[in-house]
Amino acid sequence: MSKPLNQALNALLTSGDLPTLPVVASRLLELTSREDAACTAIADLIAQDIALSAKILKVANSAFYNFPRKIASINQAVALLGINAVRSLVLSFTFISMGSNDAASLFNFDRFWERSLVSATAARLLAAQIAHANTDEIFTISLLQNIGQLIFALTVPSRYDQILQKLASDPKELCDIALEEEFLGMPHTISGFEVARFWGFPPTMLAAIRYHHAPSAYPGSDPQELLTIKIVYLTDLITKVFSSPTPERFYRQFHEEAEQLLGLGDLEITTILKTINREITQAAHYFDITVNPLRSVPEIIQEANIRLSLLHLTYEEMNRELLQSKKALENLKKQLAERNCLLDTLANLDGLTEINNHRFFQNFLRAEIERALKNQSPIALLLADIDHFKRCNDTYGHQAGDFILKELSRIARETLREYDMIARYGGEEFVFVLPETRAEEALHVAQRICRTIADHDFFDGQRHYRITISIGAVSALPAHTDFSKNEFIAMADTALYAAKDRGRNQVVLFDPRRMKL
Ligand code: GH3
Ligand code: MG
Ligand code: MG
Repeated sequence: MSKPLNQALNALLTSGDLPTLPVVASRLLELTSREDAACTAIADLIAQDIALSAKILKVANSAFYNFPRKIASINQAVALLGINAVRSLVLSFTFISMGSNDAASLFNFDRFWERSLVSATAARLLAAQIAHANTDEIFTISLLQNIGQLIFALTVPSRYDQILQKLASDPKELCDIALEEEFLGMPHTISGFEVARFWGFPPTMLAAIRYHHAPSAYPGSDPQELLTIKIVYLTDLITKVFSSPTPERFYRQFHEEAEQLLGLGDLEITTILKTINREITQAAHYFDITVNPLRSVPEIIQEANIRLSLLHLTYEEMNRELLQSKKALENLKKQLAERNCLLDTLANLDGLTEINNHRFFQNFLRAEIERALKNQSPIALLLADIDHFKRCNDTYGHQAGDFILKELSRIARETLREYDMIARYGGEEFVFVLPETRAEEALHVAQRICRTIADHDFFDGQRHYRITISIGAVSALPAHTDFSKNEFIAMADTALYAAKDRGRNQVVLFDPRRMKL
């Protein structure tokens, strides 16, 4: 090893910012490095960390492993999945939780894990296509292949930022390995390898971290290990298909090299690239990694092809075409968004009064009853009906009737609190849903509405009208009394009927002891 490299490595390994492995992970690496590692000792060790154990059991019982039986304990997980698989899970979870974006650094930890997750998922899919591949550990090996970059970001953040800045300014041409050597004295394959060795990582993981950029430089003679390195190398190309500005280049390279290195055919490769998005989303869920929605590989390549076909045009032609299609696309997007928004609103509004309609009311009430049940809070419902409205229509005509319905809706809406809801139930009937409202308060609100309407001078520019309404009110605690949404509406309806019966222009509260549904 050259002297400057040695010095740079020493500085890394003795840096106060180098993360220390949690005790469970480091003891586990030590235990599993021995030939005679006992399953029970390993299980006992992991079980000490309850949060970690829970995460492992969640993945062990998920579709990720697709185990036919429920795995109830870490002991069982070790016995059924094997020591290596469980060790992999421990390492994955240990590192995923490491690092944050507290420091003002260009290194984005979330994006780093997102890219690593794409690699890890790709590795698993590739390994599944090949007999004798290291399927137990390959996910984690690939997930941690670029751990050297994480170490740079944590130990020499400002110098590493210089590299990231350069890469961001010219992502097509620059090679990260060469820049790392120039600015930091070593590539991330070496920093990752040395630190992981210091932490006691198993040999195959070390080999993959060290040679994942150049499988042909692997000096060992273990065919399994070489296969693992080749797979990890190929996953980097897939990651670039997702993130590079020139994805088609890496797509082509992946096709060629997957065939050359692993003997994979077109059909197998296409299958992998078609399923990878779904697998990434699933794995992100199991390992608690946030990923942005990724476009599918066929989509990415199709878009790249369109871009390439534009290259044959002159610069001006291309610019014009691009601008035009961009504008058309933006217009279309805007129109669609507006239309969707309008459709959503229209679907929930009453055409005449422009307040919520029956459909919206039913959904709202269902949700509010559920919420009240969960929060153990009361909920109230008012059902209002205009008195002798038929007479009003008959006397003044339907248009006057329509005006009154609109005006009533507007006034009633103004009397409500922000979180109350008003809707037209149908015809000349209105409903009010009052969340977290007890009977006494509901009665109060209803009386206020009733009075406001009776006192209002309805004037349509030609004539003055006076109307009154009757209201049936009900309030209940869903957590104490069991009732359905329809039964709740029926209670308000019964009370409304009583209000009409007692002479109209008044409020009656539903009394479960005296009134029958
Ligand atoms: P009550 O006090 O018992 O409620 O008497 P009412 O006349 O209000 O009740 P009834 O159910 O007999 O009549 C309701 C009237 O409401 C009949 C119908 O023409 C009128 N109506 C329902 N929807 C509309 C509407 O959209 N516009 C107008 N103008 N009238 C409507
Ligand atoms: Mg009626
Ligand atoms: Mg009426």
